[in-house]
Amino acid sequence: MTDGFTPFRRLAIIGLGLIGSSIARACRQHGLAETIVAIDRDAEVRARVTALGLADVVTGDAAKGVAGADHVIFCVPVMANAALAATIGPHLAPGCIVSDVGSVKGSVVKDVAPHLPESVHFVPAHPVAGTEHSGPDAGFAALFVNRWSILTPPEGTPEAATQRIRAFWEAMGANVEIMTPEHHDLVLAITSHVPHLIAYNIVGTAADMEKVTQSEVIKFSAGGFRDFTRIAASDPTMWRDVFLTNKEAVLEMLGRFNEDLLALQRMIRWGDGDGLHELFTRTRAIRRGIIAQGQETAAPDFGRTPAPVPPVKANPQ
Ligand code: NAP
Repeated sequence: MTDGFTPFRRLAIIGLGLIGSSIARACRQHGLAETIVAIDRDAEVRARVTALGLADVVTGDAAKGVAGADHVIFCVPVMANAALAATIGPHLAPGCIVSDVGSVKGSVVKDVAPHLPESVHFVPAHPVAGTEHSGPDAGFAALFVNRWSILTPPEGTPEAATQRIRAFWEAMGANVEIMTPEHHDLVLAITSHVPHLIAYNIVGTAADMEKVTQSEVIKFSAGGFRDFTRIAASDPTMWRDVFLTNKEAVLEMLGRFNEDLLALQRMIRWGDGDGLHELFTRTRAIRRGIIAQGQETAAPDFGRTPAPVPPVKANPQ
């Protein structure tokens, strides 16, 4: 058990993909739950979870699976949350803390909260950690180490419930920040959602070109394009849901992005080398800042081999 963290008695994880299975592994490694219940609609996923020994109970029945749990985490694509919340709501035990890991927070609060009984507490979370891989085999216990997990408790959530979820993420090695769902969605629109859209777009454009063949694109993929293809390989269902549920923030950020792109286009057209150089100097400093904060490695093959992870820090209760 991780020092200072009282394990959950019965933790139910719904959706044993990359994130859900990583949570199960981290909980096993650090002893964060006495019993882990894995709930997944997919029989193949359930068979893998059983074979990998990720949970004590494995079921496809969400209503039965959450019964008696003191912590339930939704780890499914964000647009699946509403139906699942309606299914499990009546079966939740009083005092249970419900959370999630969705990449969009406004829609989760809107979709899940109305289905929860008053005796249950809701502390949405978003671990800003992941890979382009999906499914229970893709997860690993150290995924959250030294990564941020953002909590967005709705107004009225008891402070004790929020602090319990903070301690849970810290016990898995994450750093925790608390903000409103609206602010989360705006920040993540520019740091994660729009970059993914740009990657999907540039890889799609390259695939559709007529004068450059697809085999040339693959053969001569220089660092820039290759890194975009990694991001553009991310799960299609997850990312469809992100763009449909964080529509306003993404459209707002895309508007700004398009204006800035036009300015760059103009600099190239008019030969404004100083303007280009000045921008590239500023952007290089941002990359260096990310490395300095330990959120990325400076190794030239970043993103393709996992960075060495620092040990889990002591967990304040
Ligand atoms: P994943 O590996 O694809 O796993 C998702 C799991 O949810 C699968 O077992 C899937 O089962 C199940 N599922 C899908 N639709 C469902 C539905 N309608 N009802 C019940 N179960 C359903 O996905 P993931 O990457 O772990 O993402 C899960 C959540 O984490 C998403 O909300 C995502 O926004 C968030 N997140 C992801 C990342 C990342 O980098 N991947 C990072 C942070 C947060 P099937 O096999 O039947 O589809």
